[in-house]
Amino acid sequence: MTYDYIIVGAGLYGATFAYKAKKEGKKCLVIDRRPHIGGNIYCENIEGINVHKYGAHIFHTSNKEVWDFVNSIVEFNRYTNSPVANYKGDYFNLPFNMNTFYQMWGVKTPAEAKAKIEEQKQEALQSMKDAGINEPRNLEEQAILLIGKDIYEKLIKGYTEKQWGRPATEIPAFIIKRLPVRFVYDNNYFNDKYQGIPVGGYNKLIEGLLDGVEVQCDIDFLSNKEYYEGIADKILFTGAIDEFFDYKFGKLAYRTINFEHEVHDISNYQGNAVINYTEAEVPYTRIIEHKHFEMFGEEVDKISKTIISKEYSSEWKEGMEPYYPINDTENNTLYEKYKELADKTPQYIFGGRLAEYKYYDMAPIVEKVLNIFK
Ligand SMILES: Cc1cc2nc3c(=O)[nH]c(=O)nc-3n(C[C@H](O)[C@H](O)[C@H](O)COP(=O)(O)OP(=O)(O)OC[C@H]3O[C@@H](n4cnc5c(N)ncnc54)[C@H](O)[C@@H]3O)c2cc1C
Repeated sequence: MTYDYIIVGAGLYGATFAYKAKKEGKKCLVIDRRPHIGGNIYCENIEGINVHKYGAHIFHTSNKEVWDFVNSIVEFNRYTNSPVANYKGDYFNLPFNMNTFYQMWGVKTPAEAKAKIEEQKQEALQSMKDAGINEPRNLEEQAILLIGKDIYEKLIKGYTEKQWGRPATEIPAFIIKRLPVRFVYDNNYFNDKYQGIPVGGYNKLIEGLLDGVEVQCDIDFLSNKEYYEGIADKILFTGAIDEFFDYKFGKLAYRTINFEHEVHDISNYQGNAVINYTEAEVPYTRIIEHKHFEMFGEEVDKISKTIISKEYSSEWKEGMEPYYPINDTENNTLYEKYKELADKTPQYIFGGRLAEYKYYDMAPIVEKVLNIFK
């Protein structure tokens, strides 16, 4: 055989796999049908700014082994995710913490904030009882029970409805099991021990992983499958599992995001990487300003332009990028049928977000691959 592994997909899964296989002396060929490596973490450099072309990516983990591994490929910076919400022109810090409660109600101590939230929860409970409702019937009722009406109406309702493309009263209650609240003045979005962005951007991470590995872009594996099967012992497939099997049982559903990228002739557009628009009337969910992922303090003004991306959430249709799997019963059952077929194709390994029809953050993807090679 010419290759030990053909790796279909130069995303984080494929690239990490190639790196580890190469370390074990295996001969690998990585192919991707996109014109670039990196999959969804690929960045396009525009005006000296790394633009996260397929959505903003922040690496975060509490797993030291994963953190040490990615840092052995490229150093990570000190970016800390601290999004801000814009509701009808008023600004609130996220995630919900003492800053948010001060901005919402003027409360200053944790005891005052707790009392305010408790009062609103009790009001919600009472009005549900009065209406003869025992259990929250939808996301709206569930969220109000968990956090009260002010935070729900200003910071959750519109944003969630845009994400799901339907009213909160038509979204199942189980989607929100708990709403994390912090009674400290801390705007760090993640609870993880480590977070950051690769110095020089995500392409550095992928280039480092694929250093010395044979890579071919602009090639669709499925249009020449038999050929590749003939030249490799094993094939790692990180593309969509339903497409692999020619959609024979039907198509798996996704939600997607459309990005509107804009170049502005100012050095600093919004002063933060992520601003959520939480009212229903603004059609986009967030504005990302990419330079803030890698430039801090006065560095921001060194480049006189800036790139922003408005994010619009929508249902996935043919030709769009599939982003978020819709893991409801119908789609999971369909996936299981494909998985059964996949388990009967011994030459193949199916891995990654599309092949497993599962949302994975980046760190768990790296962890999965590291574990394969243990
Ligand atoms: C909008 C969005 C935001 C996200 N933000 C974060 C974040 O902030 N933090 C975080 O940790 N994670 C984030 N993630 C998750 C992250 O993107 C994934 O963990 C990661 O991309 C998974 O890598 P992968 O290799 O499985 O898939 P991909 O990156 O999708 O790679 C699969 C590759 O396979 C190629 N391919 C598919 N079919 C074929 C074929 N037939 N022939 C050849 N090539 C093929 C594709 O072109 C693609 O390049 C986000 C995801 C989305 C959708």
